[in-house]
Amino acid sequence: MDSKQPHLRPETIAITAGRPEVGADSALNPPISLNSTYVAGGPIGYGRYGNETWTALEVAISALEGGKSLSYSSGMAAISAVFSTLPVGAKVVASDQGYSGIMTLLGTLTAAKKISAKFVKITDTAEVIAALDGADLLWLESPTNPSLNIADLPTLIKEAKSRNILVTVDNTFATALIQQPLAMGADIVMNSVSKYLAGHSDVLLGSLSTNDPLQYKALEEARKFNGSIPGPFEAWLALRGIRTFPLRFQRASENALELAKRLSQHPLVTRVRYPGLPTDPEHAKAKAFMKGFGAIVSFEFAGDVAATDKVCESSKIVTYSTSLGGVESLWERRRRWPLESASVPESLIRLSVGCEDVDDLWADINAALLAAKK
Ligand SMILES: *Cc1c(COP(=O)(O)O)cnc(C)c1O
Repeated sequence: MDSKQPHLRPETIAITAGRPEVGADSALNPPISLNSTYVAGGPIGYGRYGNETWTALEVAISALEGGKSLSYSSGMAAISAVFSTLPVGAKVVASDQGYSGIMTLLGTLTAAKKISAKFVKITDTAEVIAALDGADLLWLESPTNPSLNIADLPTLIKEAKSRNILVTVDNTFATALIQQPLAMGADIVMNSVSKYLAGHSDVLLGSLSTNDPLQYKALEEARKFNGSIPGPFEAWLALRGIRTFPLRFQRASENALELAKRLSQHPLVTRVRYPGLPTDPEHAKAKAFMKGFGAIVSFEFAGDVAATDKVCESSKIVTYSTSLGGVESLWERRRRWPLESASVPESLIRLSVGCEDVDDLWADINAALLAAKK
């Protein structure tokens, strides 16, 4: 089952990639390789340098993203690996709103004078392009967490590459199913594997994918010597999760569109952001290059902080919890986290839509909204 056949579609890749060679009595699934060291003479050598279970997972992510992949102990470990390869003083262009972990890291590295960051309004393509001259790295995340802003990836990647700027895309929200940044010319794609790829809220893992052998080598060295290696069991669970990833993602995305539509009509909801809604300000841009719109919906409740918290506390099926991308629906008021960007409204709820029945979800969401009404 060679996973590298480029003509295979992602639904097939997810199921076939990263399996052992087929032979009489060969196992269908890779073993969980629990080894800190290896007999001398082979390509691995030591357990911080390589592991057969990581490799199986990486083969699958590589086939999905279209680039050679490395797994890390978390999404943040993967992000940190990229930044650890930059020279001191590197100039970074990034969105002024994005995943709170990367925003915090950018702030910390800037304060320590390791990088200098220029923050831009990522929906304003002209503003981003104007900020590119002299930059070393363009860090893109699209759709953004939690505001669901869309970066014009094809245009921005092309503009950055024409200036020889390294481009990294955080593909966690969209996934390889609906956009493949490497095919658009990006140098590195990052995924929080903890989310849709693993898909069951039981694993923390991250990945980087690239088609540039020098980048791959630098990022592999970063993993080896930062020591940000995944656990073999986590890698195994993530690969098992990938087997159903396209099915889960498709179902969750269908649910998300339907819930976004219903939320838009709700008298207690003042604003809904979902790039798949024809009324969303980013819909046309998203539609031009994305094959779908994902399964995160953000909306603002018509109430204050306490009332919005009450919404999240009142649901029975949707769990009041951070994170996203699992089979189970989760929601939270993002600003409950002190690190969340101040540009995110206090009453914004990020809903990670799962694979439950959509009418059951709606009944639960509607009841929670009404329970919090003053
Ligand atoms: C969760 C997340 C991360 C960080 O991933 P971890 O696996 O939690 O370290 C990075 N980017 C985005 C968009 C995320 O949602």
